[in-house]
Amino acid sequence: MIAPSSSPPPPLALLAEVTHRCPMRCVYCSNPLELVAASGELEEADWLRVLSEAAELGILQVHFSGGEPLARQDLPRLIAHAAREGLYTNLITSGIGLDAALGCRLADAGLEHVQLSVQDTEATGVDRIGGFQGALAHKRRAADAIAAAGLAMTLNAVIHRGNAERIDAFVSLALALGARRLEVAHVQYYGWGLINRAWLMPTIDQLRAVSARVEAARAQHKGALVIDYVIPDYYARLPKSCMGGWGRRFMVVDPAGRALPCHAATTIPDLHFTNVRDASIAETWEHAPAFNAFRGTAWMAEPCRSCDRRELDWGGCRCQALALTGDAAATDPACHKSPHHRAMVELATREASAPPAAAAGDVTYRGSRRRRPRPPAAATSRKAEETCSGF
Ligand code: SF4
Ligand code: SF4
Repeated sequence: MIAPSSSPPPPLALLAEVTHRCPMRCVYCSNPLELVAASGELEEADWLRVLSEAAELGILQVHFSGGEPLARQDLPRLIAHAAREGLYTNLITSGIGLDAALGCRLADAGLEHVQLSVQDTEATGVDRIGGFQGALAHKRRAADAIAAAGLAMTLNAVIHRGNAERIDAFVSLALALGARRLEVAHVQYYGWGLINRAWLMPTIDQLRAVSARVEAARAQHKGALVIDYVIPDYYARLPKSCMGGWGRRFMVVDPAGRALPCHAATTIPDLHFTNVRDASIAETWEHAPAFNAFRGTAWMAEPCRSCDRRELDWGGCRCQALALTGDAAATDPACHKSPHHRAMVELATREASAPPAAAAGDVTYRGSRRRRPRPPAAATSRKAEETCSGF
């Protein structure tokens, strides 16, 4: 790999994965299959130093995520320290355990924004996807606590085959809970989502219907609710600019202290990751081999190398390229110029059309290898018209 000759500008944001602990066990969780145990987590003093180093480097935002970041008792102190360092602070949470008292503590600490995730608008759907009984009631209480604390909130709606018909209900829920922003994001197939892909993949007809409902809702609620929309890569024609480009906009620090260019980067076997216990944030950002491996465009082969979009999408997602082609340096198969693109679309079509009972037999909850025969919903019984020879 060729390292860039000049120092890269600082990242925009630090994604602080402070823990992998979480009361929920979502079948699409993007956490790695090998979760970091509580005993392996960074100490509070390490995180305080990381936050100071991030601010010193010029990072502007810190997003506290996990797992469930509220599982760490020191979270208010981490937020307070980040705020003192001048970082914009955002909390990404399942909402489990977020009551009025804790909401006030977080706001007093300097928290500025909360992203609250919802798996479905129906209680049974949330329980089924998250493997946690009564989760929707917890999320409603969390939304009340967020509002009472005067914090701005985005509702994160994760879309899959089992809830794709409920876009209007997600919009209504966001408005009812007082969110000013709704992110309608199809499942991204990493971590647990990748191994449960056949259970979650929407049909192309569902995707079209979701896209139409999002457009209609945007027009209807303009001025009251901003709606962001992320489509599934498997039906895309062009890839997303994953992480805004490798080593360009974001640094992830995982619960064990590994500094990663993206949260799924540990799936790439040849990369070595430095630990924030051993190297500073600035040193890692500039010099760590993992950050320079796919930074810029010098690593690209054709068709990306000569493509006029190479500095727009940066070749798409390295982890997805590895997962679907076996080569992390390949063009993301989400791109129509990839020789693997057709096979990717056929794979999605076939999995989305599988009879639900068969797909459900393959579901694996986060943190468990136990299989549970409960499908998210009836999918179409339409068979894929062609046989996929790829992957
Ligand atoms: S996706 Fe679900 S299991 Fe994973 S961290 Fe979020 S709430 Fe927890
Ligand atoms: S060929 Fe590469 S740079 Fe061009 S659009 Fe596809 S992924 Fe992006």
